[in-house]
Amino acid sequence: MSLDAVLSRIDSDLPEAMDRLLDLLRIPSISTDPAFKQDCDRAADWLVADLNGLGVKTEKRTTPGHPMVVGHLDGDGPHLLFYGHYDVQPVDPLELWDRDPFDPQIEQTVKGQVIRGRGSSDDKGQLMTFIEACRAWKAVHGSLPCKLTFFLEGEEESGSPSLVPFMEENAEELKSDIALICDTGLFESKTPAIVTMLRGLLGEEITITGPDMDLHSGMYGGVAINPIRVMSRILASLHDDEGRITIPAFYDGVPELSDELEAQWQGLAFDHNTFLGDVGLSRPAGEQDRTPLEMIWSRPTCEINGIWGGYTGDGFKTVLPSKAQAKVSFRLVGDQDPLAIRENFRKMVRDMLPEDCEVSFGGHGASKASMTETENPAFDAARKALSDEWQVPAAYVGCGGSIPIAGFFQNILGTTPMLVGFGKDDDAIHSPNEKYDVESFHKGIRSWARILEALT
Ligand SMILES: [Zn+2]
Repeated sequence: MSLDAVLSRIDSDLPEAMDRLLDLLRIPSISTDPAFKQDCDRAADWLVADLNGLGVKTEKRTTPGHPMVVGHLDGDGPHLLFYGHYDVQPVDPLELWDRDPFDPQIEQTVKGQVIRGRGSSDDKGQLMTFIEACRAWKAVHGSLPCKLTFFLEGEEESGSPSLVPFMEENAEELKSDIALICDTGLFESKTPAIVTMLRGLLGEEITITGPDMDLHSGMYGGVAINPIRVMSRILASLHDDEGRITIPAFYDGVPELSDELEAQWQGLAFDHNTFLGDVGLSRPAGEQDRTPLEMIWSRPTCEINGIWGGYTGDGFKTVLPSKAQAKVSFRLVGDQDPLAIRENFRKMVRDMLPEDCEVSFGGHGASKASMTETENPAFDAARKALSDEWQVPAAYVGCGGSIPIAGFFQNILGTTPMLVGFGKDDDAIHSPNEKYDVESFHKGIRSWARILEALT
């Protein structure tokens, strides 16, 4: 009964909620460009004022970069934290936008109404879904059913340099039972999703050196070792014919899918022909005994991201190069240990190195995968709330990319992260003409109201 009143309040307040979002979208808070420093500050001020208006004691907290917005609301029940970010991506190339990215509008499209403007989906529209749910709840009941902390960042699109130090310095203040993170999407456009598996990332740069200097291939070709040939042989050996990665012990700690998750994923309307067809491909190229969804979400990868050496300019130069270089990265899952993999990878490369060659390595990042503990009853409760709102079973999904914030909540604060979002694949986040469907915004707000009720 009481939830119904909140939901109707959300429905009737939707035009005002959209106006508030448009207001926030007019502030060009591009975090990576120093020219917009004051605008980042203004976006933070806007949120501080809005949350204080809701009775949440909120402050702008300084960092060496853009400020954090932190607010607290006392209350009974569990302690929930909400994370979002108020900064946005740069807008160039500006000429590809159909309108001013910071003069947002509601537009009618063939697929329905959309809110158009930079940040409409990533992440201002998404973060406002939660704030609007709280506003409606408060309007109906006078208070919220839980203790709440708001934690809004202004540097997410520029690498979050202040985030970890801030979380470490304020760990006691930010600790909570569950951290709700709204920066992800729906699984295709109608199925709500909770992201429960995020892959980790490990990067390696390899330099193989043969002769002391570039040589003339007419004079030295055949007799001198060619480091590009050595590099090619090593890189080619990282996968076998079935798409499996050959580094010793690489699959240690890679879990099998639970029967429940396997069944859930089989039920998802994922069409790999379309997914690959969109980029001009047709055949899944990973481990041949795995499904395409497993390849993206729950299996580890090894990809060669760049390879260079010798002469690559116009024309031709018969050079026998002194060096060959490559960048290789790994997406990791489960309990795979990035540092052990780095060691085994480097040993494998060294073992394959012929006489007269030397190798040096550079490391780029090494983060473990994170998996949220879905045994926590809050997950099934939230899943049910989402299913009720969208009228289709919500899915526990993986995410091929890496969302470091989830791991920070787990590792720095010991708080379980829950990633729920309402973005769609065609939102064009980070691209020209970014949009957020009015349906995403509206149902997103309603979803949070239902989740608030389910968790408290
Ligand atoms: Zn984002």
